[in-house]
Amino acid sequence: MFDHIEQFYRPATVREALLLLRKVGKRGRIVAGATDIVTQADRSTRFLVDITRLGLAYVRGNSRGCAIGATTTMAALEHSSVIRTLAGGILAKAASTCGSIQNRNMATAGGNLANASPAADTAAVLLVLDAQIVVANSRRKRKIALAEFCAGPHRTVLQGELLEEIIIPALPGGGRLGWSFQKLGRTETDISLVNVAAGLQADAHGRIKWARIALGAVGPTPLRARNAEDLLLGNTCDEDLLTRAGQEVMREVNPISDTRASAEYRREMSGVLARRALRECAAQAGCKL
Ligand SMILES: Cc1cc2nc3c(=O)[nH]c(=O)nc-3n(C[C@H](O)[C@H](O)[C@H](O)COP(=O)(O)OP(=O)(O)OC[C@H]3O[C@@H](n4cnc5c(N)ncnc54)[C@H](O)[C@@H]3O)c2cc1C
Repeated sequence: MFDHIEQFYRPATVREALLLLRKVGKRGRIVAGATDIVTQADRSTRFLVDITRLGLAYVRGNSRGCAIGATTTMAALEHSSVIRTLAGGILAKAASTCGSIQNRNMATAGGNLANASPAADTAAVLLVLDAQIVVANSRRKRKIALAEFCAGPHRTVLQGELLEEIIIPALPGGGRLGWSFQKLGRTETDISLVNVAAGLQADAHGRIKWARIALGAVGPTPLRARNAEDLLLGNTCDEDLLTRAGQEVMREVNPISDTRASAEYRREMSGVLARRALRECAAQAGCKL
């Protein structure tokens, strides 16, 4: 694709980047770590706008949650003390599985979401954490729930906009929380055949009062398993309940067969990984299984 590039821009501020994006229009493309863009060979792109000098590489935690700048690398997420302690460290764990060390030193958090791969490893975790995305163009800035951000494989709702920041709101208060991220790939550094993130909160009697389950690589976009979440809510957490939730997850996913795995295998493994994730969450939340 780089044979066809006429201009490579390196703006120094968000404002400059947004004006450039307006100027280059549909023939322009944002580039951050370039780990996805180089493999896509999109020959219609004439202008690249590099966003790695805009000051968007940061992690800021406070009592209201956490903000992650778009060009924060996977390596930075993996090693950030804020991210390692947030929600049992599941975002740090997901970031640490995004390819090789070399890849993680370049790959950005914003790029992982904006590329809209159904298998993006941070997406399932960020769905579980109810993340929101701040996006901007030269005229306005808006906030979108991550659940509404992906429109299909490699399609988002972005309209020539810059993804500036990922916001993770405060976690449910009151303790008795548990978290898990599970990834199945062909090797340690491969992309996911299936990934599952989960979060549970139990009350003092072991009943589930808050539940999130999200999966990647088993549908056109990363998805929430809402029926399985509903099945858990208000019920006492035991092995039978978690097995039924895993079965519900298998019904909710919509995988395809490709060179990496068959749809049947992905569906089966969605159930296995979901049960494994829920057990890990339940143990942390103090439930007796
Ligand atoms: C060898 C290898 C292994 C990989 N393994 C994994 C893996 O295990 N798990 C995984 O999830 N991914 C994996 N990936 C994919 C990739 O590394 C990630 O998706 C990465 O986070 C993409 O970020 P980037 O900064 O490199 O994006 P880029 O390649 O720079 O951009 C990707 C797309 O997003 C757009 N974009 C980037 N940033 C923004 C922004 N802030 N606002 C709007 N649009 C933007 C670009 O225009 C482009 O369309 C792998 C890639 C490679 C090459």
